Amino acid sequence: MYKANKNQVPEMSRFVVFSVIFFIFIFVTGSAAFVLSMRQIIQLNKGSELTQLLEIERVKLETSVNNEVVIALKIASSPLVEQYFSNPQDPVLSKIAVNEFASSRRAFASELIFWVNDIDKLFYYNDIEPYLMDPDNPDNYWYNMTLYETEVYNFNINYNPDLNVTNLWINAPVFNSEGKPVGMLGTGIDITTYLEMINKNLADGTQIYLFNSAGEITGARDPLLVAEKRHIEEELNLNGIDIFNKATELVPYETQLVDTPLGRIAIGTVPLLEWYSVAVMSDSIDDYKTAMTALFIVVLFVIVAIFIIFNFFLSGLLKPLHKSMKEAEQANRAKSAFLANMSHELRTPLNVVIGLTDLVQEEDKLPGNISENLRKISNAGNTLLSIVNDILDFSKIESDKLSITPAEYHVSNLLNDVIAMMITRIGEKPVVFKLNITDDLPEKLFGDELRVKQILNNLLSNAFKYTEKGSIELTINASIAENADDADKKNVWLEIAVSDTGIGISEENQKRLFTDYYQVEDTTRRKIEGTGLGLSITRKLCEMMNGKISVESETGKGSIFHVSICQGFAGYVPIGKTAAENLRAFRYAEGKNMEKKKLVRADLSFAKVLLVDDMQNNLDVASGLLRKYKMQVDCVLSGQQAVQKISQEDPVYNAIFMDHMMPGMDGIEAAAAIRALGSEYARNVPIVALTANAIQGTEDMFYANGFQAFLSKPINIAQLDSVVLKWIKQ
Ligand code: ADP
Repeated sequence: MYKANKNQVPEMSRFVVFSVIFFIFIFVTGSAAFVLSMRQIIQLNKGSELTQLLEIERVKLETSVNNEVVIALKIASSPLVEQYFSNPQDPVLSKIAVNEFASSRRAFASELIFWVNDIDKLFYYNDIEPYLMDPDNPDNYWYNMTLYETEVYNFNINYNPDLNVTNLWINAPVFNSEGKPVGMLGTGIDITTYLEMINKNLADGTQIYLFNSAGEITGARDPLLVAEKRHIEEELNLNGIDIFNKATELVPYETQLVDTPLGRIAIGTVPLLEWYSVAVMSDSIDDYKTAMTALFIVVLFVIVAIFIIFNFFLSGLLKPLHKSMKEAEQANRAKSAFLANMSHELRTPLNVVIGLTDLVQEEDKLPGNISENLRKISNAGNTLLSIVNDILDFSKIESDKLSITPAEYHVSNLLNDVIAMMITRIGEKPVVFKLNITDDLPEKLFGDELRVKQILNNLLSNAFKYTEKGSIELTINASIAENADDADKKNVWLEIAVSDTGIGISEENQKRLFTDYYQVEDTTRRKIEGTGLGLSITRKLCEMMNGKISVESETGKGSIFHVSICQGFAGYVPIGKTAAENLRAFRYAEGKNMEKKKLVRADLSFAKVLLVDDMQNNLDVASGLLRKYKMQVDCVLSGQQAVQKISQEDPVYNAIFMDHMMPGMDGIEAAAAIRALGSEYARNVPIVALTANAIQGTEDMFYANGFQAFLSKPINIAQLDSVVLKWIKQ
């Protein structure tokens, strides 16, 4: 059977949620995997790109420097230059030499030439007017270095702040025939323009730096770095990666790749100049603008499309399923409503059967066989009533309407009622009933007495039903525990065991015992009445009291049902020795029964009561019971008639007994209409509800609607007595 649950998310939206979560999972893990592998590929590509870049730029630089060196050396070794440098005052020589310099100048890429001879120390630079140079000025250190320390050529680098250019100077000494230096000449290479050219061709985020063996930057996109002789380590802050050291450890022409926070970098050498180079390529989102990324995004879109199509497809498939689920739900509700209605309809005539039987049974001097037959009718009526009650409870469980209504109750009364009812079931059977309780069992508890009684009744009546001889024992232990939710409150855990020596239940059947409608099928049980609902209701009731139920049983030997339920603590009053002994000896029960039989009704001949019920049979039963108090009972068949009677104010009634379910105006509406009449009498006359509608749970509703008391049908004589005595006053 399908059980509808209102809180359930419908299957379809659950699947949509699942799809979305699944897609997010694919998206996150897929993206992570994609980014990681793409990064690896990018780094690999970048590495070889950077290495190539350094290599190409080194070759270009070295080639152009080499060209210039060769030209400079050629001029320096010319005999004309040597002669001129040895005799700078010779005007003819000087003129030829200057012309020669002017024409050789064009051989240099920068078209730049300078020369100084060691005699007049005049510094010539292109066509500019020569000036006298002081070799002892530290700025001109290169002069003495070239003449006296250099064999072939040297380099020096300087930055010209006026022109904002960095020049690499090639200096070559000129020797006379005796090998003595007579002057020097050289040319400059404009590194700035050269590096600008390189850097211009580089992609965004890529840069090349050159630095010398002291770590000073000798070439960079920003010429100021060269002017300031900025250290490469200062410029490239790489979180402790010492690129200068790494560079100096390289052998000539070697390159090395390093991963740094800036991105991937390559370090290389420029052996000709004894310099190093470093190329930096920073990471950027543009690195990912590749065909692979496009492919990845397309795949994601395809997955989304698949999910959407799949969801649509599934919702189409689920529609008929939904429809049948809804229908099943409706059918189930209709069934529960039917069961509830039917049990109500059954209780009404039962009320009459049991009520009238009890009424007649009370007559004195009945012939023995009639008395016996009446007893049997009453028993059958009560059995039927308990079945109807089970059905009503079960339909309440099905529609989630079963509730627990806690109040303070007396444990001794509860046990007395349960035992009194059970004892009658023993009948002729050779069965001994034993109650195991201790004197310190709490006398008062806070809980739903009727529902606890129902649990005990169900278990005991099963025990009596399925035991032909031997014994049945009811054991109850109580323990006090802290209330987990509220430290100021205490709980009482009742451990209940009902054991019997009956036919027992096989292991296989035990597993299915607490499920709906389950009855053990075998020949020994054929004759035994029952609906198979008792234990599933009992289990539900235990769960509602935070407890549980279990069974131990052996076929042919007997069964023990264990129940533990939680009740509220209502004080440390123990049941006491006398009550416990009386209960154990059933005297408590017998005493009460005798009381019931001997019920002495008060003489209320002064009183007039109004009885309202749409069924004549019910009026007969109730008026019969009420007339035993010698009062005047007026009967009406509808709510409207009742309101009319009260509005007349003559006679004045001491109380009204009002049925709940009536066609036209029901009991609740009638009570409201009576209260609305406004007179003091109409506002204060006690109204007692009579209902066959529910066993429990509706009292509060009656109290809230202007009723003073509540009697459930079939009317219990003792309950009626206490209501009558409480509310009917002169
Ligand atoms: P029913 O109304 O049929 O008694 P229950 O739910 O109370 O329904 O019990 C279900 C089945 O469990 C019964 O049909 C019976 O076969 C088995 N059963 C319950 N209690 C006992 C017991 N004490 N001894 C043997 N069998 C039992």
